Amino acid sequence: MLNVLRHNDRTNKIQFSGYTLLRVDHISSIQQESLTFVDAIIIDTENNEHATDLVFFIRKNADLAIALKPIFINNTCQLNKTFEIHTDGYIDLNELSIAINRVDIITKRSKRISHKNTVGHDYQVKQKILAFLFTRNSTIVPITNRASLIGYSFPFIDLFYKEEEVMSKLSMLEKSVECGHLSTNLKDFVHLCKRCHGNYLNFVEACPKCDSIDIKAQDIVHHFVCAHVAPEKDFKTKDGLACPKCDKQLRHIGIDYDKPSSMYSCNCCNHEFQTAKMIAKCIDCNAENELSALIKKAIGSYSITSAGEEWLRGGEEQSSQVSLLNDGVMTLSLFKIIASQELKRITISKSTSQIAHILFVNERLDTFDDATKKLLVKEIGAIIKSYLLPSDVMAADNYNSYYLLLPETKEQFPKRLETIQYNLGKLLGDNLQERLLDIKIQTHQLIEKETVDSIIKQFHK
Ligand SMILES: [Zn+2]
Ligand SMILES: [Zn+2]
Ligand SMILES: [Zn+2]
Repeated sequence: MLNVLRHNDRTNKIQFSGYTLLRVDHISSIQQESLTFVDAIIIDTENNEHATDLVFFIRKNADLAIALKPIFINNTCQLNKTFEIHTDGYIDLNELSIAINRVDIITKRSKRISHKNTVGHDYQVKQKILAFLFTRNSTIVPITNRASLIGYSFPFIDLFYKEEEVMSKLSMLEKSVECGHLSTNLKDFVHLCKRCHGNYLNFVEACPKCDSIDIKAQDIVHHFVCAHVAPEKDFKTKDGLACPKCDKQLRHIGIDYDKPSSMYSCNCCNHEFQTAKMIAKCIDCNAENELSALIKKAIGSYSITSAGEEWLRGGEEQSSQVSLLNDGVMTLSLFKIIASQELKRITISKSTSQIAHILFVNERLDTFDDATKKLLVKEIGAIIKSYLLPSDVMAADNYNSYYLLLPETKEQFPKRLETIQYNLGKLLGDNLQERLLDIKIQTHQLIEKETVDSIIKQFHK
């Protein structure tokens, strides 16, 4: 070994096959190093907290090249399994060639990724996840984990989301699949509490009338001789079963009588019913969810697609936050095409159609991240849509800006817009614990020879 390298021993650097591996046991020893010149990091501590700090420090680094560095654990150290999944596995310091093989692949693949300047948490995370999958040439497989809110941990991905941000995490993954950058392989479905998104749920049967869980199932008895049908309790006597209608003893099931079904009775309100109501009680937040209210989410493994690789190499422009396409809410560009068509139509049909713009301003909503804003578009869009006619068309270019095309609408300010203005203002106001939120709605009647762009411009004057 060269003397220069021998000197470096005290800083715990290992040189092998042209690669430098840095051995660390605490975050303080890594902060002094320039990680740019290190090819891999070896965690050499049994302290789970120290190890976690190290992984967070590297993986959350703003420099993508550092965030993607291979991280190994010295195989003489035992660490939590929940922690291990975020690393590249164990390394045997006496047998480095296997690990160096991996370092070689990861380093070479890292160089093929172009470093884009990114804005927005979700966008940065997506880039890291795609880059991680690409450099590892592998799949992210979720692991069952009792400590996770949803019962599953995602290697690498979980490092970038707090436990309570699980919906943003799943939605980011869904969106990446939707746009073709990730492919997914379904593993499971989880059902989450509507309030806290946890899946530690206790399922209980309850009375459909009074919601009490103090209910009892009992068999229905059918007496063959007289055809009397009643709950078993009506047949019960000291000596067994006797028919309350014909007084005969019931001795043999299948010969004297049978039990064609069962029935519930409620000990609280005496209601009798065939089908009990199911309630999923959340152990974490105590919410009582009806089954239909539970949020069903797919859990899958994720791989990068060739379109995703192309995107990583910078082949595709960064998608801006205006490229929204949620259920029932179209993008502004599509809206413009449809509205232009409507302009042509009214020229021929001489009918009256309108375009409206809904806008509101709120500082608190404005601080939300992109993923949350997209969810807002979905929710607010659904609310607006519920007041529209089936022929109306809606688009959004932001969470607080919606465009409506209202064909065959003569009134200057149609009733449905009044309803939207009041109800949306009230609903948002209530949710934000403020007074009525001011919803601004402008309308414009379509006239021949104008363009959709000019109308939209007028709204923004
Ligand atoms: Zn809950
Ligand atoms: Zn009841
Ligand atoms: Zn009878």
